[in-house]
Amino acid sequence: MSQVSENLQVILGNIAAASLKAGRDWRDISLVAVSKRVPVAVLQEAVAAGVRIFGENYLQEALDKIAVLPQPLAWHFIGRIQSNKTREIAENFQVVETVDRVKVAFALEKHLGVLKKQMQIYLQVNIGRESQKAGVLPEDLGDLIEAVSQCAHLRVAGLMAMPPYSPDPEETRPYFRQMKDLAEVLEGKNLPGLTGKLGLSMGMSGDYQVAIEEGATVVRVGTALFGERLY
Ligand SMILES: *Cc1c(COP(=O)(O)O)cnc(C)c1O
Repeated sequence: MSQVSENLQVILGNIAAASLKAGRDWRDISLVAVSKRVPVAVLQEAVAAGVRIFGENYLQEALDKIAVLPQPLAWHFIGRIQSNKTREIAENFQVVETVDRVKVAFALEKHLGVLKKQMQIYLQVNIGRESQKAGVLPEDLGDLIEAVSQCAHLRVAGLMAMPPYSPDPEETRPYFRQMKDLAEVLEGKNLPGLTGKLGLSMGMSGDYQVAIEEGATVVRVGTALFGERLY
């Protein structure tokens, strides 16, 4: 068994255990394999082990991998979005998790309209209010949702966050909880374009179990699956 395959079994076991602890169904949680800076041969091992969803941060690197890996795989864009790259993102990804401003949403919509393609997006929230981090502030989320609701080819699947880093996942838990609260408040507001429950993409290698306990529906795991990144 490959190292990736062994790591995957551990992670899936942890996801199941965290779900059980939280009284949730493990099938409601998707694992995004974060493969930035991981060589394509290792992604191939991951596919052989059963991984079907990859998350990439850097467009060109992602395009090189998408071109050689067999379909059907789902690719999530999880990096910073430059608006001049939205055409290629719209063309090549199934899900974009890092929409945090109206300009990017409208740019994606324009290209998706040409492609006649529907796309699921997550709105990235700067839940820790960190000046260096991307993401919309919680109080500006309503306006962003309003703007996205005018985009016929975008569907808000949920919210995404990268809380302030701590080696202790218990320190991150309150941020996950704030994200869940935020989602529930928005769901209760009957906003245009929001139907049903909002997903929550949160939790990385160090804290995905805690994120699941707090309501994550998507966890984005890199290092725990692929090992330390080389650079
Ligand atoms: C790199 C990255 C991850 C995965 O981080 P790990 O700690 O390696 O699991 C998740 N989400 C985003 C947005 C990232 O950039």
